[in-house]
Amino acid sequence: MKKRELVLGGLCLLALVLLPGRREAADLPADAPAELSAETNYIALTFDDGPNRGTTDRLLDGLKERGASATFFLVGERISGEEDLVKRMQAEGHQVGNHTWSHVRLRGASEETICRETRQTEEALEAILGPGTYWLRPPYGQIDEKERKLVTVPMVQWSVDPRDWELKNKDKVVQAVLEAAKPNAIILLHDIYPTSVDAALGIVDTLQKQGYWFVTVEELLKLNGIEAQPGMIYRSGDQTA
Ligand code: ZN
Repeated sequence: MKKRELVLGGLCLLALVLLPGRREAADLPADAPAELSAETNYIALTFDDGPNRGTTDRLLDGLKERGASATFFLVGERISGEEDLVKRMQAEGHQVGNHTWSHVRLRGASEETICRETRQTEEALEAILGPGTYWLRPPYGQIDEKERKLVTVPMVQWSVDPRDWELKNKDKVVQAVLEAAKPNAIILLHDIYPTSVDAALGIVDTLQKQGYWFVTVEELLKLNGIEAQPGMIYRSGDQTA
């Protein structure tokens, strides 16, 4: 009897010692910040118009250092010669998406143009990364309602646009994003500008300290229980941010 009690006591003690450690390893995303706030807030950074050597690779280095995931919408005609960057994106846990072949405005474009522009980039991505569902961000975020049926993947807009391409100023871009950032936001940036890369890393540093976790758009929707549908446009993780 005494021996049995001792064994049980020992097991409970073992459980007490093991459980907290196991929980941490199993439940927390890789980019869990050092100081966690009471609430778990998820947010998505998205980068358009790349890949661009010199800025995209520096961004990938910085995101890796910080354990932050992001989503990249690539312009097809920019991919040739930058295949290693595209492979790195996927290998390092980022989501890779389609931003048309030549950055055409899809609103008002013919069916033939829409299909060609999206298909060509899809083929370039498949050649590098293999078959997959490469979500689309229509350039300028626009596509006609009636043309959405042509798109066989989910589409992504954004809820925070600091107009980084116009500001081209790290501090102003950081400020604009921090003012508008909230849980489930999808932030629009462009990884072809050095100032946007600097801003993105500054945004990650600040928001991680506030308890935010940076995830891909696909992850953000899933965390909100949303299974993204082809032809639908998503503007934030919960469609309200
Ligand atoms: Zn664009």
